[in-house]
Amino acid sequence: FTAGNKTIQPSDDKLLGGLLATEFDEKSCLSRYHQPSLRRPSPYKPSKYLVAKLRSYEILHKHCGPGTKAYKRATEQLGHNDVRSFGDHECRYVVWMPMFGLENRMLSLVSVFLYALLTERVVLVDQLNDIPDLFCEPFPETSWLLPLDFPLTNQLDSFNRKHSRCYGTMLKNHAINSTTIPSHLYLDIFHDSRDHDKMFFCEGDQAFLGKVPWLVVKSNLYFVPSLWLIPSFQDELIKLFPQKDTVFHHLARYLFHPTNQVWGMITRSYNAYLSRADERLGIQIRVFSKPAGYFQHVMDQILSCTQREKLLPELATPESQVTNNTSSTSTKLKAVLVTSLHPEYSDKLQNMFLERPNWSGEIIEVYQPSGEKVQQTDKKVHDQKALAEIYLLSLTDKLVTSTRSTFGYVAQGLGGLKPWILYEPRNRIAPDPPCVRAMSMEPCFLRAPLHGCQAKTIKISPFVRYCEDWTTGLKLV
Ligand code: GDP
Repeated sequence: FTAGNKTIQPSDDKLLGGLLATEFDEKSCLSRYHQPSLRRPSPYKPSKYLVAKLRSYEILHKHCGPGTKAYKRATEQLGHNDVRSFGDHECRYVVWMPMFGLENRMLSLVSVFLYALLTERVVLVDQLNDIPDLFCEPFPETSWLLPLDFPLTNQLDSFNRKHSRCYGTMLKNHAINSTTIPSHLYLDIFHDSRDHDKMFFCEGDQAFLGKVPWLVVKSNLYFVPSLWLIPSFQDELIKLFPQKDTVFHHLARYLFHPTNQVWGMITRSYNAYLSRADERLGIQIRVFSKPAGYFQHVMDQILSCTQREKLLPELATPESQVTNNTSSTSTKLKAVLVTSLHPEYSDKLQNMFLERPNWSGEIIEVYQPSGEKVQQTDKKVHDQKALAEIYLLSLTDKLVTSTRSTFGYVAQGLGGLKPWILYEPRNRIAPDPPCVRAMSMEPCFLRAPLHGCQAKTIKISPFVRYCEDWTTGLKLV
């Protein structure tokens, strides 16, 4: 296995400090054990408690997962309005449905998985979209894919706020009665969910929901910070994550292992463009304005941020006598990986550093793996490319991201990087200052419930802050 001209030895930390289980066949999913060989070992080690919790989760999943007797027994409860007569629930589940773009999905899946760990549920993922084309199975000797013959398969699409099993709607209609326990409920955790849906984050509601054997979640958000604000979860969370800002970093590296096809895209790009560099800078450019595309003010902002923060050198005039000592082998090579739907930003950057000398004398190589122009979620190769680019960004040494872009959030979390975040431009003017350094590598819960049962706790909690790039969002620090 080679990267550039160097042969990569599997690093000692092949199992990410005990995070990964050992029972997998290496060849069927190369990324699982080879990924650590492309990055420096993470300075963040998982706690022993987290490692033990993951191992016991794997046993639970194997016992309750698809194809087991326990799974069959649990599905027999589905459809009953009151499941108390079934006795104690041997296995309880949380079914995750993919919603919105790929990164929204990765963020909500990590949140749902943490919820499953905290509540001793088994997580099953809907497989109708492209999950199996993107990720390998994360749990040994079982599957995380919801079986196609799951009794509610035909209803899953119809779960929404109007559905009679939607928890928020039932609360609104006073249809929740703590003496009857329905077999399943639908939870709606979106950017525009209603106050009743947000009651999910309240202590008393959790006590009730804990009894419901099947929960189906649709979400496009990273709702982990608000799980930390549920008092009955806090002690466990502190034991699992003594370093509070490492939740996404550990859980995403545990759960997400790109399939061999995606891993091929990652390693080919890495070997061709990043492996030889002395330093790697990632720049993730997401333009949310409509129409999106190339804008001079965004280009100005990128240059102003990267030069001010000394991530890229200042350009000299063509006539200046900068000694670019190209014959010397000591000349530093800096690889700049740009990801964007628009190819123009990296083209301009590349030309700039080719046409003019720079004051540091470094060689700057700019590379953009793809320029897809528009988002095409659910097209297999498009999503695979997006995933490959997120991984490549996560392999850089320093990272610049765009405000409120989940694409950047996933890359920074996987890479264990505190990015510089480009502020969102207003009125087509480059903001001043152009960017801000993130407080932590955690993603932002962009629409955290701020006014409900958690309002008081938010103010006094030392481990959550308002996000740098979205002042009404919350993040772990
Ligand atoms: P967000 O909109 O940035 O928060 O992220 P989403 O998860 O909602 O959607 C972003 C989607 O747009 C990705 O999944 C890709 O489909 C596409 N996309 C955005 N930026 C890039 C990029 O830099 N490269 C690639 N390949 N796709 C991108």
